[in-house]
Amino acid sequence: MSADDTLLVVGGGVTGATTAALLAQAGWSVAVVDRRGFDMHSPQPNDRVVALGLGAQRVFKHLGLWSRLMEGAVTPYPTMVVEAKGHRLTFHADAHGLPELGFIVSIPWLEAVLAEHIQAQENIELHAPATWSDFKVTDDGVRLYLGPNPQTVTETLSGALLVGADGAGSAVRQRAGIEHTAIDYNQQALIGPVVTARPNPGIAWQRFTPSGPLALLPLPNGQSSIVWSIPTHEASAHRSLPPDELVQVVNDALGATPPDPMGLIQAIDAPQWWPLKRQRAHRLQQGRVVLVGDAAHSVHPLAGQGLNLGLLDAAALAECLQPVIEHRTTGAWTQALARYGRWRLSNTTAAGEGIHWINALHHTPMGLGQHALGLALAAANRAWPIRQALIKRATGIDADAPLICR
Ligand SMILES: Cc1cc2nc3c(=O)[nH]c(=O)nc-3n(C[C@H](O)[C@H](O)[C@H](O)COP(=O)(O)OP(=O)(O)OC[C@H]3O[C@@H](n4cnc5c(N)ncnc54)[C@H](O)[C@@H]3O)c2cc1C
Repeated sequence: MSADDTLLVVGGGVTGATTAALLAQAGWSVAVVDRRGFDMHSPQPNDRVVALGLGAQRVFKHLGLWSRLMEGAVTPYPTMVVEAKGHRLTFHADAHGLPELGFIVSIPWLEAVLAEHIQAQENIELHAPATWSDFKVTDDGVRLYLGPNPQTVTETLSGALLVGADGAGSAVRQRAGIEHTAIDYNQQALIGPVVTARPNPGIAWQRFTPSGPLALLPLPNGQSSIVWSIPTHEASAHRSLPPDELVQVVNDALGATPPDPMGLIQAIDAPQWWPLKRQRAHRLQQGRVVLVGDAAHSVHPLAGQGLNLGLLDAAALAECLQPVIEHRTTGAWTQALARYGRWRLSNTTAAGEGIHWINALHHTPMGLGQHALGLALAAANRAWPIRQALIKRATGIDADAPLICR
């Protein structure tokens, strides 16, 4: 691997592995460093799942991985429903000329399929489990020092670019001196598979309950995956409850109108609680360092956007670097990286702000914001052009998405 042709990716989670795969497919040599090993994992009922839009699906199709992913736990959803204060906004894929609106996918399964793929690529070199202690950026590249500390360097990797894909607590971001803002929502999300009175027919359903947004996402066996984001003091009161009492608390929050057509929750399996934070880097590029995925931005889960944004970062980076493959000049590098930084900062900041303000509105005193939210949903439900614009943005296929996603 020559340093000019090599790109270094720190973090081999879904965003990092996808970035590595796209860059390798475009002709770059890639070195991936992750502190975890890459293990195969078959889908398990209690896996954490995420909703991925059509833009993300197109990224995996572009990599030739979609049919392999479909062998595991992937559930399409043709319908999406959002409710607040008795008002409802419904999206049907066929009304927008789409086969479906998105998919519910297990994160460990995504990671396993990506690991299998990147392990098989001749132009991807894996360093995992491995740690790094420092890096040095020059005008035309980066040297990354592997090993537990600067005194014990086990290997030095040289490349033309360092991609920080190392998650919300990104040490790459910190070492590069890229400022970031973090907001602790003081909320926790309850997640886990639930059984409802009737099977979920493929609806990504969400209601803004008085405590916070509660989503039921379809799973392969007619079950749903719950994501209920509530203030930490409420979560603390609920987290040690036995499962049947927790089910009662959730059903009480749903109120007099059960989710349609699933009905009330009958059972919850292995509930987990996740603390919720928003975080955004002020820049996504500094010299020969770029950030992708949660290292660059993490958002409240109420819109199911976090990983979708990361996958679009990966595709955008590969697209921006395409001209550099043909013209390996300093000018081409500068232009490509600046384009990536501007494009994804504006796109992900807009998404993050929108999600942030929906959450803030929901938590305004006396439920006033919830009424406003309900009225906004009802208005959007009556206006097809608004629904069309929302669905294109939410599924990652609008005009601001990378070319392979549109
Ligand atoms: C409750 C909840 C629900 C969510 N639902 C959705 C959803 O429906 N849809 C959606 O799109 N998103 C959703 N998200 C967001 C989504 O889970 C994240 O955006 C996504 O998992 C981030 O992936 P990533 O690869 O960027 O980061 P990570 O998954 O954090 O991966 C980072 C990788 O970097 C490695 N690493 C870290 N530090 C180092 C280091 N120093 N050296 C080497 N390697 C390192 C780690 O081992 C890891 O492999 C949700 C989040 C939560 C909390």
